[in-house]
Amino acid sequence: MKTPAADIDPGILERFESFIKEKGLRRTGQRDVIVAAAFSTDSHFTAEDLWEMARKIDPSTSRATLYRTLSLLTESGLLQEIDLGRDQKYYDPNFVEHPNHNHLICLDCGTVIEFSDENMAVIEDCVTRRLGFSSVRKDIRIEARCEEFRTSGHCKRGKK
Ligand SMILES: [Zn+2]
Ligand SMILES: [Zn+2]
Repeated sequence: MKTPAADIDPGILERFESFIKEKGLRRTGQRDVIVAAAFSTDSHFTAEDLWEMARKIDPSTSRATLYRTLSLLTESGLLQEIDLGRDQKYYDPNFVEHPNHNHLICLDCGTVIEFSDENMAVIEDCVTRRLGFSSVRKDIRIEARCEEFRTSGHCKRGKK
């Protein structure tokens, strides 16, 4: 039988493994299932979404392990907590590959578009240096109207 670890990007697995080792923890089958689920998608997800994805791999995944593993993943920087302007917290698995991306969000349908722009990085650098800081993390969210919203006043797409 294939283990969940077989589906995880080896780079991610390596970083996760060395992070939890430093904390005196070990990889377990349950943790691997959650890591595999978290990086099986390019979409942003809530803890609840992740639980459903994990349970598709292993129906016995417990909520307790889910929350513990989720905080290990965010602490290690593999997963980033992002604010999409909604009631729930969202997690973003795409920062590992695209560390400088930002989010453009349609105010009506909730469609989230990831983008990166070199000018943003320049501005971030200028502002932080000018104020004597050095940037560690940024999370830029632009709330906007998508084309459909602009032209027809609403959009039919579902929230993502
Ligand atoms: Zn993102
Ligand atoms: Zn829209």
